[in-house]
Amino acid sequence: MSETIHSEILIIGSGPAGWTAAIYAARALRDTRVVCGLQPGGQLTITTEVENYPGFAEIQGPELMEKMRDHAEKMGAKVTEDHIAEVNFESRPFKAIGESGTVYTADAVVIATGAQAKWLGLPSEEKFQGFGVSACATCDGFFYRGKEVLVVGGGNTAVEEALFLTNFASKVTVVHRRDSFRAEKILQDRLFKHPKVEILWDTVLEEVIGDENPLGVTAAKLKNVKTGEEVTRDVHGVFIAIGHAPQTELFKGKVDMKANGYIITEAGTTKTNIPGVYAAGDVTDETYRQAVTAAGMGCMAALEAEHWLEEQKAIEGAVAAE
Ligand code: FAD
Ligand code: NAP
Repeated sequence: MSETIHSEILIIGSGPAGWTAAIYAARALRDTRVVCGLQPGGQLTITTEVENYPGFAEIQGPELMEKMRDHAEKMGAKVTEDHIAEVNFESRPFKAIGESGTVYTADAVVIATGAQAKWLGLPSEEKFQGFGVSACATCDGFFYRGKEVLVVGGGNTAVEEALFLTNFASKVTVVHRRDSFRAEKILQDRLFKHPKVEILWDTVLEEVIGDENPLGVTAAKLKNVKTGEEVTRDVHGVFIAIGHAPQTELFKGKVDMKANGYIITEAGTTKTNIPGVYAAGDVTDETYRQAVTAAGMGCMAALEAEHWLEEQKAIEGAVAAE
């Protein structure tokens, strides 16, 4: 028979949002459980240096996430290595079923399942991830001072990332598979005018080329999809900016979400449309998508969950007294 574990606050996801929610929930002396998911520690575990998390001028992403986990555990949060496969928010206690078969019941739930940058799916792209291939210019742009970089994509993210990279790189080449961007016109104008930017239309990235020891990018093989012409460009950084996908498949039809999958929260809060269910971090944030903002939202979610549980207790007490 499958095991059932109850907690007052169940946190689904173990990125910065999840661990921060856990720290606050456990410090409120709530019985708190974090279910880690397939990527314990979240997106920062696939990067190297993180230089913009306050308090750490430089720390490796995986180390930062280990510290957050230690912190949450020290505060009393319980941690389970499992991946939630199904949720039921229709009745209370809320229910989440793990792939292990364990049933997690909870009085309040924080959804912190994050987002994943979309990748092209090239083997060479995967090989150099964190070693010259990145999906986050804000995070990694600083490492390319005076160097040439390539950006793949044609949406707002690609154009913003390219503009941001001009602060560091000597040249930014934007590669887009069509002959027009879908990015906002004002952003496009800024890009077209920038002296450091070159745009290669109708072009796709075929392969990332690099050194083995130390692992690092040296060039990119590109192909014009109209002419079939192939060229190799010398670059040190390749930024893939073809969109981010929130990890919300599991919650479709369970909480309100936008057409693009981001969970909708009440303005200025982490409240979903289901009282007692909160969403924090990249799963609801398509604008900032940073570790510190995810952590901030994790804090909000735990505080809101705590207030809500107190309110429920007061309501139950009043009903019992009648
Ligand atoms: P995530 O970190 O995405 O964590 C989501 C968690 O949910 C994971 O633990 C996953 O296992 C879990 N999960 C998913 N589905 C389930 C499920 N069904 N059941 C249970 N658990 C589940 N930001 C910065 O501020 N600075 C940086 O330097 C920086 N560098 C980056 C480098 C890279 C390569 C990338 C991709 C991102 C970077 N970011 C950086 C962005 C930052 O990583 C994210 O904004 C942040 O991790 C979001 O935190 P989160 O907690 O919302 O979600
Ligand atoms: P997006 O708008 O979905 O754009 C993705 C881009 O990547 C598109 O140009 C697309 O090409 C290209 N692309 C997708 N898959 C590809 C592939 N396999 N190979 C090559 N190219 C591929 O994603 P986004 O730019 O990340 O933006 C996501 C959402 O966030 C949007 O709603 C956006 O407006 C919003 N956003 C807003 C701001 C802002 O307001 N400042 C900033 C960033 C993001 P095609 O054009 O050919 O489809």
